[in-house]
Amino acid sequence: MYRFMSFFMLALVSAVPMLQGGEMADSKGTVVIMLGPPGSGKGTQAVQLSEQFKLPHISTGDLFRHHKKHDTELGRKAAAYSEAGELVPDALVIDMLGERVAQPDCDAGYILDGFPRTLNQAVAFGKEILGSHELVVLNLDVEYDVVTERLGGRLTCTQCGHPFHKLFNKPVREGICDECGGALTQRKDDTEDVIRNRLRVYDTQTKPLIQYYQDLGVLNSVDAGKDKQSIFTELTGTIKAARRVSNHG
Ligand SMILES: [Zn+2]
Repeated sequence: MYRFMSFFMLALVSAVPMLQGGEMADSKGTVVIMLGPPGSGKGTQAVQLSEQFKLPHISTGDLFRHHKKHDTELGRKAAAYSEAGELVPDALVIDMLGERVAQPDCDAGYILDGFPRTLNQAVAFGKEILGSHELVVLNLDVEYDVVTERLGGRLTCTQCGHPFHKLFNKPVREGICDECGGALTQRKDDTEDVIRNRLRVYDTQTKPLIQYYQDLGVLNSVDAGKDKQSIFTELTGTIKAARRVSNHG
């Protein structure tokens, strides 16, 4: 019981300075949330948008790796869950994220990639972390068949790591690397069963966020079946338009 209380108190205490920081009206920034199934290309787009708008790119994967590497208290707690094969609890993810975005480089806003993953996380984020920043949600909308084809066709050279694709970036000789002649292989998490399972998890846990953000009036859906450059142009335009609207208000 005591351990639970202290964890709860910690969460409360760490939330307070962020809320105060967020209430400074003159430091209002833009927070971009990227939604989309695995294989929608949201990670790649997030990195490019981060460069374009000079906003930090924050992925929960990077956060976990950072805390693990520096062996922090939050990192040790998270590792205990993942080593037991359990999901890291929302409260812990929220704590990590809250600590990260309280840093000064996030004052003008930031781009979130891989968060929120559940409705619980989305609600907690809005209450505890967002502050007075404006929210722009970009939904990369793509057919699951397209995603399965994209992810399922990825090949990597076992010798030099060069990436290929069965359909979009074929090697000259099937199964052989153009660069070094090494054998090409498919990543374990790119097999059809694993992809289908990842899409199922997305469907049940993350897809409800589309409706949630639609209801909040901050959702922008983009057709992510197109080529990368067209998607990037559309996303860039959407963020600029959202910022213009909020500046009028
Ligand atoms: Zn190679």
